[in-house]
Amino acid sequence: MDIAQSVQQLKPSYIREILAAASDKNVISLAGGLPDEKTFPIDLMTPTLEALPAMTQVFQYGSTSGYEPLIEHLTQAYRLPATHQVITCTGSQQGLDLIARAYVNPNDTVVMEAPCYLGAMQVFGLMQANIITVSQDEFGPNIQQLEQHFKVSSPKMFYAVPDFHNPTGVCWPLEKRRQVAELCIQYNVAFIEDAPYRELRFAGEELPLVSDFCPDHSIVLRSFSKVASPGLRVGTITGKQSYLAPLIKVKQGADLHSCVPVQAIVLGLLEHPDFPKHLAQVRALYQSRYNTLFQALKTYLSDDCQISPVEGGMFLWVTLPKCDTFKLAQELLANNVAVVPSPVFYPTQDEAPPAMRLNFTNANSEDLLIAVQRIADVLTNAR
Ligand code: PMP
Repeated sequence: MDIAQSVQQLKPSYIREILAAASDKNVISLAGGLPDEKTFPIDLMTPTLEALPAMTQVFQYGSTSGYEPLIEHLTQAYRLPATHQVITCTGSQQGLDLIARAYVNPNDTVVMEAPCYLGAMQVFGLMQANIITVSQDEFGPNIQQLEQHFKVSSPKMFYAVPDFHNPTGVCWPLEKRRQVAELCIQYNVAFIEDAPYRELRFAGEELPLVSDFCPDHSIVLRSFSKVASPGLRVGTITGKQSYLAPLIKVKQGADLHSCVPVQAIVLGLLEHPDFPKHLAQVRALYQSRYNTLFQALKTYLSDDCQISPVEGGMFLWVTLPKCDTFKLAQELLANNVAVVPSPVFYPTQDEAPPAMRLNFTNANSEDLLIAVQRIADVLTNAR
């Protein structure tokens, strides 16, 4: 049987390969985007887990848009306007997939940041979108370039991760959020705001969503993967009803609805009086690991490597002197450290400046220090 053309053109995932290599116990992995298993709030989920056997109704088919008590809770928690709604989905990754399938025809233009979340590139690539990119610095996307794209290419949507970007860790300042929202309204482009790391802020001031400035031109994706556990596979999509109605149709075809018992577990977790304490502990743990990694990089790497500080999330982006980053990643792996080289995050890999993404949430501080020393040694030997 011939494989569909849309699937044939998918490249093998380098990340999957490197993660397989990094699962070796001797490798210190800074490659994945994994939360630390020790943070999974199993104890806060236990009351619901114990109550489930008596909750026969959650084992019945459910509603496509989600488990009603969870939807009610989230509608209030997210302070949604009356015209907006919540859909729960099987991880925010499914939200992305539903958006792409509901709205993107082959050759429709989608603007993304460069570098960009790999999973989004895959989803829009599968729909054979015409992906164009806007460059990014430590303050988010280049506004002049973005406006030029909006003017010249009339894209359907702009997909971005404004809070603690994957892979760069960048968090857009307030003014950038306003500017992007204004452009989306002016040029009638839907803003797809992917916010799985938003709750992981450990420093600085919380900022409004970009979508708060363009609520009728945006869809927001959130996730419980980073603040609860990724294995639960629960995320949410919010936006105005007319934007979300086609997504419900597509979800019906995809899986009828997300797992109801798991949605009940998430509700129990959110309503648990100790959930805010749990969040604070996760943030504090990641902040201390980030501090270790950042300080070690500043201490051990030479001045031609640039590292911008972050205020949350899971990743640091290290800009390197000119080199073959794939070869560097292989050499690091031979020295039992896994990192992800920059080209993986660019639709056109040749355009990637030399850099690597480092995760600071999964390895402990001791291992982070050892990893940085090994990175510094490999970089010195490569000179
Ligand atoms: N968006 C971004 C930017 C991500 O980094 C991830 C996970 N790595 C996802 C979406 C998907 O997350 P999930 O499906 O677990 O909610």
